[in-house]
Amino acid sequence: MTLNNDYFKARLEELREELLAELAVAGPHPESGHGYSTHPADHGTDAFEQTAGIAVRRNAERLLYEVERALTRIEENRYGICRDCGQLIDRARLKVIPYARYCLDCANKHSKG
Ligand SMILES: [Zn+2]
Repeated sequence: MTLNNDYFKARLEELREELLAELAVAGPHPESGHGYSTHPADHGTDAFEQTAGIAVRRNAERLLYEVERALTRIEENRYGICRDCGQLIDRARLKVIPYARYCLDCANKHSKG
């Protein structure tokens, strides 16, 4: 298997579909307390489930943003290049995190502050 841009583009598009599906399930206005009336399941609408739903939604929205940006970078032929040091990001890392913006070294540097 060749880990080229086509491979990562397919991975990212797959991920985007999953995230959009998650957001569709979470509903358009999770914090209003409404918008759950059309939920297909009649269980799992207690307060805990709603709070968890908001967390899932926020996480999905953030990831979706990263995925969209990664897809843009593929279109612009800038994909897989560390935003910080300009080095190529390890393909193995991209395989795990296809929307990664930084190489492992820089990501570690950032997480340490
Ligand atoms: Zn770097």
